[in-house]
Amino acid sequence: MCGIVGYIGSRDAYPILIKGLKRLEYRGYDSAGVALINNDDLNVYKTKGKVADLESFCEAKNISGHVGIAHTRWATHGEPSSVNAHPHYSESKNLAIIHNGIIENYAEIKNNLIAKGVKFRSDTDTEVLVQLIEYVQVKKNLDTLTAVQVALHQVIGAYAIALLDKREPNQIIAARKQSPLVVGIGENEFFLGSDASPIIEFTDKVVYLEDGSIAVMRLGEELKVVNILNRELNPLVHTIDMNLGQIEKCGYPHFMLKEIFEQPECLKNCMRGRINADADQVTLSAVIDYKERLLAAKRIIIVACGTSWHAGLIGKQLIETFCRIPVDVEYASEFRYRNPVVTKDDLVIAMSQSGETADTLAAIELAKRSGALIYGICNAVGSSIPRATDTGSYIHVGPEIGVASTKAFTGQVIVLAMLSLALAKEKGTIDDQTYNAVVKELSLIPDKMKEVLEQNDKIADLSRIFTYAHNVIYLGRGYSYPVALEGALKLKEISYIHAEGYPAAEMKHGPIALVDSDMPVVVIATHNAMYEKVLSNIQEIKARKGRVIALVTKGDETISRIADEVIELPKTLECLEPLLATIPLQLLAYHIAVCKDKNVDQPRNLAKSVTVE
Ligand code: GLU
Repeated sequence: MCGIVGYIGSRDAYPILIKGLKRLEYRGYDSAGVALINNDDLNVYKTKGKVADLESFCEAKNISGHVGIAHTRWATHGEPSSVNAHPHYSESKNLAIIHNGIIENYAEIKNNLIAKGVKFRSDTDTEVLVQLIEYVQVKKNLDTLTAVQVALHQVIGAYAIALLDKREPNQIIAARKQSPLVVGIGENEFFLGSDASPIIEFTDKVVYLEDGSIAVMRLGEELKVVNILNRELNPLVHTIDMNLGQIEKCGYPHFMLKEIFEQPECLKNCMRGRINADADQVTLSAVIDYKERLLAAKRIIIVACGTSWHAGLIGKQLIETFCRIPVDVEYASEFRYRNPVVTKDDLVIAMSQSGETADTLAAIELAKRSGALIYGICNAVGSSIPRATDTGSYIHVGPEIGVASTKAFTGQVIVLAMLSLALAKEKGTIDDQTYNAVVKELSLIPDKMKEVLEQNDKIADLSRIFTYAHNVIYLGRGYSYPVALEGALKLKEISYIHAEGYPAAEMKHGPIALVDSDMPVVVIATHNAMYEKVLSNIQEIKARKGRVIALVTKGDETISRIADEVIELPKTLECLEPLLATIPLQLLAYHIAVCKDKNVDQPRNLAKSVTVE
């Protein structure tokens, strides 16, 4: 959510900041702004709307300066508007701050400051922070760093902040608690970003700031990292392995389409080194390193949100089938506020594409207290969840920029499939024949996915019939039920058409009342153990004049005769069908959103990494 960019060095800061904000646009936002230090001035320019609007706004302004910070805001406190956009000045305009997160006790601090005569300009929680910093700075005559430390002591909540002080023009101070921040280290210059994407063009040396740390970037000095008590910390410098091509569109009209199409390649990367060349063995380093504790687990709890939660539902079926361990799949946001029964005999699997999902991080902290082993499944390398967990597996599908998750979902399913196989093998709960067949088939999935992607034009044509639909139902059974949920979520997210996923047999218990000739029903009806049952469900929908779009196994003639439209999928094992069936649903949602002229990569109200609860 929201984006933070910073630069300090000898180049012009403005172009670097704008480019950085554009690289972070995928995270979703409603307004943008920049602060630049130019000699004795601290200039703030901000506006509601997109980064392009900020650029127009800045056209006639003084944008010179070698030190600056910039922000894209996703409003939590105060409507999206130019006044509420960041950066926020302190009352004297000596300080300017940008902030990602939520200051939970902002109202109390604000009232105290107002009582002391401080004047506020915006409705945000963020302004409270910069006013507080100034207040303690003036009152106690402190340097900026100490004032930040004192102020942060009083703050409850989550934040990533960057602060400029015009009286210390060669310095940026940045701090994090729960919200991510990355510092890039160049030759006599520093970069700052909410993630590494605004930085990688300039340097591959980065420091992922730890929770509770404050970075002081000063021209001509080494990076200094301290905590709130001013104890110096040793920042770990990572060399990142990410290139520009990975975060650019490479000729596709949208990141989402690019990411859908790169799934075969990404999944090969995900399996590389984990499934051997003969495709008869899965090796996950986490399963080797934590073998004993994993084998001792009496129960598995998967905590996740959104699309990752759907992947978790598939993981449940895979793990229960092969490992014979009970698996609960929990929304992290609910789990964290219940008093869940978690013991040291549990294995908690936390899944998040960004590795920064605030609810999932909180669920991890809660589970840790009961001594459970925590296993992370994330995409963003070096993010907070992999650092907060005992062990885990990256999905290695490369940066996902489109807000609606696609390749991360299939990557998560692949990792869960590999984990279930590796664990089952160790436990002895899978026979050799099944193990070999599933491992072999996993290795064939990327090529089968390519076959599905060849139907892109057909799916684009088909999508036109949905343009006027107000509601769509997605149905699936068994392994396909979570796919139905995921297909419906994709459609909601980017086309704003109301859609629901159901287990097909649940139709009769309510949703069938909705079916009429205006209602498209997407049914995953592949040739598996549930085939006959799903066939009956389709007949029931047709009897009520519903319009059926069926995903069938190649060569199916029965359903092809009844359904209005069919999309064929190559044959695969039932447990791996989600990996193929998801693709047409992603494409369908994509093309419908394009037909409706929606902003596919940055749907309204949504953010890529949900770093606030
Ligand atoms: N809570 C702050 C606001 O509403 C920051 C939101 C964000 O993370 O962009 O301005």
